[in-house]
Amino acid sequence: MNEAHLVLRDVHRHYGEGDKLVRVLEAANLTVLSGELVALVAPSGAGKSTLLHLSGLLESPQSGEIEIIGTKTSKLGDRGRTQLRRSTVGYVYQFHHLLPEFTALENVSMPQLIAGKSQQEADIRSLELLEILGVAPRASHRPAELSGGEQQRIAIARAAANRPRVILADEPTGNLDPETSDLVFEALKTLIKEEGAAALIATHNHDLARRADRIVTLKGGLVVDHDL
Ligand code: ADP
Ligand code: MG
Repeated sequence: MNEAHLVLRDVHRHYGEGDKLVRVLEAANLTVLSGELVALVAPSGAGKSTLLHLSGLLESPQSGEIEIIGTKTSKLGDRGRTQLRRSTVGYVYQFHHLLPEFTALENVSMPQLIAGKSQQEADIRSLELLEILGVAPRASHRPAELSGGEQQRIAIARAAANRPRVILADEPTGNLDPETSDLVFEALKTLIKEEGAAALIATHNHDLARRADRIVTLKGGLVVDHDL
């Protein structure tokens, strides 16, 4: 059975006030199930990053509820939010932010060591992820020795290292050519299906979005279904 890993209920988020007021989300509702990959397609400035930040507990809505694997977050304190984020959410950005002095494998093992795993456990998990994402032969390469698509797949592996139940990706292929974007997106999809995480991917690439299970967009502060 596919459970709801990420639920947004009537989420409201604005910035500023007076003549600087920007209403981004008015009553955003969204559910992403385990093993589901949802593409969020909307123009620049529409609020994609805001929606992802809220979903990843990096910022808070002014009202509404965000639920991650059944935990309501509106009443959690800072420490509770941080703990829930660390144990359940993986983030992928447009730029990979891999550590340049470390190999691909080390970059993926690092967050696991920080979480208290042994080196051996961490490395086994990292290799498993590199395998799923098709970059195992690059395990001992440093970021500068990798192509853009390989770097981004390593960044996805790193985000997935501690088995997050929710993976949020903000324009993860924004920096890649179309063919490489397809490859990276498919790798991410394989991972989501294999690990049963829920994925929300912000992109303005329509062709890519068609490969998702479902496409949503933002209109008048609402999340609405979208067909391409
Ligand atoms: P997208 O990712 O779709 O390009 P964003 O979520 O980054 O859109 O931004 C949505 C709107 O909210 C924009 O008009 C942006 O200027 C505004 N915004 C985002 N973050 C802030 C902030 N921290 N302070 C003020 N305005 C913000
Ligand atoms: Mg953005």
